[in-house]
Amino acid sequence: MNSIDNECVWHPYARIPNEVQTHTVKSANGVYLTLDSDKKIIDGMSSWWSVIHGYSNPTINSAIKRQVDKMSHIMFGGLTHHGAVELCEKLIAITPEGLNKVFLADSGSVSVEVALKMALQYWHNKGQKRKNHFITPLGGYHGDTFGAMSVCDPDNGMHHIFSGILPKHFFVKKPTIGNTKDALVDLRSTLKNHHNEIAAMILEPIVQGAGGMNIYESEYLVGASELCKQYNILMIVDEIATGFGRTGKLFGCNHGDISPDILCLGKALTGGYMSMAATLTNGDIAEGVGVLMHGPTFMGNALACSAANASIDLLLNSDWEENIRRIEKILLTELTQLKSDKSVRDVRVIGAIGVVELYDNIRMEETQNRLIEMGVWLRPYGKLLYTMPPFITSNKELYKITDAIKTVVREL
Ligand SMILES: *Cc1c(COP(=O)(O)O)cnc(C)c1O
Repeated sequence: MNSIDNECVWHPYARIPNEVQTHTVKSANGVYLTLDSDKKIIDGMSSWWSVIHGYSNPTINSAIKRQVDKMSHIMFGGLTHHGAVELCEKLIAITPEGLNKVFLADSGSVSVEVALKMALQYWHNKGQKRKNHFITPLGGYHGDTFGAMSVCDPDNGMHHIFSGILPKHFFVKKPTIGNTKDALVDLRSTLKNHHNEIAAMILEPIVQGAGGMNIYESEYLVGASELCKQYNILMIVDEIATGFGRTGKLFGCNHGDISPDILCLGKALTGGYMSMAATLTNGDIAEGVGVLMHGPTFMGNALACSAANASIDLLLNSDWEENIRRIEKILLTELTQLKSDKSVRDVRVIGAIGVVELYDNIRMEETQNRLIEMGVWLRPYGKLLYTMPPFITSNKELYKITDAIKTVVREL
């Protein structure tokens, strides 16, 4: 099986034949992935931020089983169903104030495309056709489709390959801890000079994910929100990674108590069971947009809605805030010990996210194999070794993850 996988199957950001060894998972339960060899490893990645309640959660499993016997999917054009309406109602209730119109998209990247289209259509209909660019901080990641790619960090995103075809947008200084004032000055001056050409700002709140695992101060979020209002551009917040409790607040926006014009959700929306995302906006923008030019085949997929409804209920009915504080405390105490290590440049922790940044690139395959030996699954990339474990990870399992991180860093 692995030779077919290696020679014929594309993996994310990989070539064929694959250069980095893949590991076959035969089942998954709780926080554990079971490999073909029967070895069980703790998934410290939550399958890329998404599996917040762990694998094979009985509540989500039974919600999907009930739904599959009713219907798995119906087209959303001209038809609707209870699960989708229930989900949209829930999202409106829990997201920041004012967001009360929902577009159910089929993946995070698509929800970003929809957000960009909303902003462009809004200004087009207002007769401001020059407002057709976006502004975004460096170091961001918003997905792999063309629109989303055009607002990703140009260096991380390997933009040079597509530079002839990608629209050119405005990139501003990346916010980091300690440089908020500076970053806001840069944002202000770019907006001052170009606001007539800009439809919206797009950014990830509090944590920039795949673009570099960068944590920044809530003052930047607040300052950016004020500047967007002042210069009459829309604010799109991409909560695809940060949403549903990951940073210690239900949404990253809550750190600055801001309410964006457009919000993107994904990843943990279905508890990691299925691909689904959502783009929310308010009544004014929705009215300005008019007929939104988007409609995926699998929009509002009923199975995905059943998983999302069950996952959100599970989260809200748990003491998730206290639980994330528990995880944060352990990640902080354990990973901070690495700060004095000569190979470590920085250690950053927020909520259930722990990041160790090294001076040198990490050899992915070798490091991964060593981590698996120690019973842990992580996916280091570049100079970053990081974890965002499922929320159900026990203290003992968290220590196993942090011990494995400490061991590989010290062995480097
Ligand atoms: C993962 C991610 C996306 C893209 O979502 P996909 O489901 O992979 O298309 C967009 N924005 C952010 C912040 C993400 O973390």
